[in-house]
Amino acid sequence: MNIIVCIKQVPDTTEVKINPQTGTLIREGVPSIMNPDDKGGLEFALQLKDQYGAHVTVITMGLPQADAILREALAMGVDRAILLTDRKLGGADSLATSSSLAGALRTMDYDLIVTGRQAIDGDTAQVGPQIAEHLDIPQVSYLEALEFDGQKTFTLRKQTEDGYQVLQVDAPCLVTVLASAVKPRYMNVRGIVEAYDREVEVWGADRIDVAEDKIGKTGSPTSVMKAFPKSLKPAGETLEVSPEEAVEIIVGKLKERHII
Ligand SMILES: Cc1cc2nc3c(=O)[nH]c(=O)nc-3n(C[C@H](O)[C@H](O)[C@H](O)COP(=O)(O)OP(=O)(O)OC[C@H]3O[C@@H](n4cnc5c(N)ncnc54)[C@H](O)[C@@H]3O)c2cc1C
Repeated sequence: MNIIVCIKQVPDTTEVKINPQTGTLIREGVPSIMNPDDKGGLEFALQLKDQYGAHVTVITMGLPQADAILREALAMGVDRAILLTDRKLGGADSLATSSSLAGALRTMDYDLIVTGRQAIDGDTAQVGPQIAEHLDIPQVSYLEALEFDGQKTFTLRKQTEDGYQVLQVDAPCLVTVLASAVKPRYMNVRGIVEAYDREVEVWGADRIDVAEDKIGKTGSPTSVMKAFPKSLKPAGETLEVSPEEAVEIIVGKLKERHII
């Protein structure tokens, strides 16, 4: 069984700060990590490797420094690591990101593709489902548990708003995984030492199977018009009063501020 896990390097915070002048993310001083949901997905893949001898590949699209999360994945036990990096891929929105990743996946053998449910920086939760659509394979999102019959069928538990669903899907398919579903293993000491000697394959845009107008800025139908930090609201005032008194107080406050 061939499993490919898509992993993304993200800032180690959910409080992403934005430069109010330029509208871009402030990355200085914020360490980077492997996106937590992706680490959960990687653990599911490594458990399938432990049980069935699956071959596990990780792929990331990003800047050269994303090499760090690929080496972390190698230290956790993956077999192959790919860094997809090219200026032509820069400025991609979620559609161009998924087109590029699907372009890479098209050139590889896979039974199961694993992504995180959501990246903690971009936060769209679109990339996994979009990859499945590009490749025309079934997808199950919000994965909490997974069993394999050893042949070609996965039994999957998917979180829903008010409970869960159990589904059966045949390979090849794509799943998006929740970080809360599984506790990722630690890197082992031997793995850490060896990870730095192992090869990370570096792929450019010419190595993937996708039209040039579907990648990078050209392949991005959306653009960020404005980015700004959330303004802090002052603490509100709570009053226990009748509706009539409430109307009087609200009207009084609005008059006080010359709003009415
Ligand atoms: C107009 C526009 C321009 C942008 N320009 C840039 C830019 O110049 N530089 C930049 O860094 N970002 C840029 N972004 C952000 C970039 O588009 C997102 O980071 C990317 O689309 C992933 O979306 P997400 O973070 O919401 O991922 P989600 O959809 O929330 O991620 C779900 C899962 O998909 C997988 N995944 C997502 N991204 C990757 C990846 N890169 N590699 C491997 N797996 C992945 C992971 O498994 C992840 O858990 C831009 C966005 C827009 C809208």
